[in-house]
Amino acid sequence: MLPFRLVYHPGYDLNLGEHVFPARKYHWLRDRLLRTGFAAEEDFVAPQPVADEDVLLVHDPGWVEKLKNGTLSYQDILRLEIPYSRQTVDAFWLAAGGTILTARLALETGFAFHVGGGFHHAFAAHGEGFCAINDVAIAVRRLQKDGFIRRAMVIDCDVHHGNGTAALFSGERSVFTLSIHQFNNYPSEKPLSSLDIHLADGTGDEEYLKRLENGVKAAFTMFQPDLIFYLAGADPFYEDQLGGLALTFQGLKDRDRFVIGTAVAGKIPIASVLAGGYALNVEDTLTIHANTAAVAKSVLLAG
Ligand SMILES: [Zn+2]
Repeated sequence: MLPFRLVYHPGYDLNLGEHVFPARKYHWLRDRLLRTGFAAEEDFVAPQPVADEDVLLVHDPGWVEKLKNGTLSYQDILRLEIPYSRQTVDAFWLAAGGTILTARLALETGFAFHVGGGFHHAFAAHGEGFCAINDVAIAVRRLQKDGFIRRAMVIDCDVHHGNGTAALFSGERSVFTLSIHQFNNYPSEKPLSSLDIHLADGTGDEEYLKRLENGVKAAFTMFQPDLIFYLAGADPFYEDQLGGLALTFQGLKDRDRFVIGTAVAGKIPIASVLAGGYALNVEDTLTIHANTAAVAKSVLLAG
C-alpha cells in the first residue's frame, strides 16, 4: 500500500462534455494510478459531500441558495464559465467534502492526496473560472471549527492567481495565502494574498523554482502553520492552453519535491489538491498530476 491515502469519488466528473476544462480528468487520473500499479483500490477513500452548514462557513447564503436551487443569473453563469446543472453542483459539494477528508488524513499521517479539488477562484458570494465553491477555504474553516488546526497555509502553485482564496482570507491572521502565478493572465484583478509571486510570461523551470523557494522560505519566517494546503496545479506546464509559463515535466516535479519536501522536513502535515491543468494533450495533464503523487511517495519513503 501507499504511505498515504488518495481521496476520490466517481461523482467528481463535472459532466461538461466538450470543454477546455477536462472534467473527466479525476476519473482518468484514478484509472491511470491503478493501471500503472502505482496505487491499488484499497489506497483510495471516498468522501461524503460537504454539509451545507460547512459551505456556509465561507460562502454567502444567497450564493449557496442559487447553486442549490438552480437560480443563477445569466451573469452568474458567464462568470462561472461552465454550464449549470444539478450534477455539476453535486460534484462541487463532493469535491469540498473530499478536501476536508484529505486535510484530516494529512493531519493523521502527514500527507494525503486529493484526486480533485483546488477551486481557488470561488469567492464568498459568486463563483468564477470553473469554480463554484472554494473547497480549500471550506476545509480550513471546518478544521478550525473542529479544533483540529488553528493556523493554515495555502501554497497555490496553479498558473492562475488564487483570487477567491486571497479575498476570502484577506485580513485573516490565522491563514497565510501564498500564490505563485503568471501575472499577465486571468484573473485580471488579483486581490492581495499574504504573499503574491508574480511571474513574467514564459518563465521557465530555473527562475520559477528560485522564486518559489525564496517565497516559501519568506512565508515560513512570518508564519508557522499547523497544516499546509498545496494546490499542485498542472497548468504552469509549457504546453498548457490557458497558461503562459514554460515549466517542463521535470520542473514541475522539482516544484512538487520542494513543496512536499519542505513540509515533510518541517513535520508540517500537507494536503495536496489538483487545481487546474489544460495541456493540449490531456495525457500530459494526467502525467503531471500523477507525478505529484509519485514525488510525494518518494519523499515520504525517503523521509
Ligand atoms: Zn489554473
